[in-house]
Amino acid sequence: ARRKLVAGNWKMNGARDANAALVHDITFDSKRFPGIDIVICPPAVYIESVAAALSGSSVQLGGQTLCEQEKPGAFTGEIHGGMLKDVGCSHVIVGHSERRALYGESDALVAQKFITAQTCGLQPILCLGETLAERESNQTETVLARQLAAVLDAAGIQAFKSAIVAYEPVWAIGTGRTASGEQAQAAHAFIRGQLARANAKIANSTRILYGGSVKADNAESLFANADVDGGLIGGASLKAAEFLAICAAA
Ligand code: 13P
Repeated sequence: ARRKLVAGNWKMNGARDANAALVHDITFDSKRFPGIDIVICPPAVYIESVAAALSGSSVQLGGQTLCEQEKPGAFTGEIHGGMLKDVGCSHVIVGHSERRALYGESDALVAQKFITAQTCGLQPILCLGETLAERESNQTETVLARQLAAVLDAAGIQAFKSAIVAYEPVWAIGTGRTASGEQAQAAHAFIRGQLARANAKIANSTRILYGGSVKADNAESLFANADVDGGLIGGASLKAAEFLAICAAA
């Protein structure tokens, strides 16, 4: 069976005092959930202080993105995967729809970031998802297949032994409009099927998270689906009680 994972993506939110309080509350209670993995992804400037606050806890850390370059150097403003690892990250989100839509990340760039993450010893959390217009024009599977194929073709199926996939329909992100359990399950089963065409065993062990307006009151109905292995949580990961309730549902 696949171990459930709940990841919090803080996006561009946080401040030192607020982070300290949030992390205190999360670590205090996270001991209640030994059966799942919990990862939090703060803004890069706060990773090191959050890592210190998490020491001794089983909660893991992730970056929100990384530079595609395999070696450090003259890339002003960028963050190397080795640096994320150095300050305590085990994971990194790649291809979040906000990166794709607002910062022009192409499928090819996302694939390169995925590869670089693994080269640096980080587990990528690869985000895939269709826009509302794409869903309404029945392009959901075409888009998911294209986004996944870019990474599969570049990195190979074996790379998915140490990677996590997140299905995040763009229309559900930050909108309060969650995918139904059935919609999530259908997309997750499709993604797993695409992986299975390359290797059924790896497909069966790859965790696929759902992201998009997951809250305490809808988490259970999403996580109950066979191919939903946890969640990637945005807004609700900024409130300890809400985030912990989502962990409890996993
Ligand atoms: P929300 O949970 O705020 O909808 O964000 C989801 C997300 O984008 C997580 O990466």
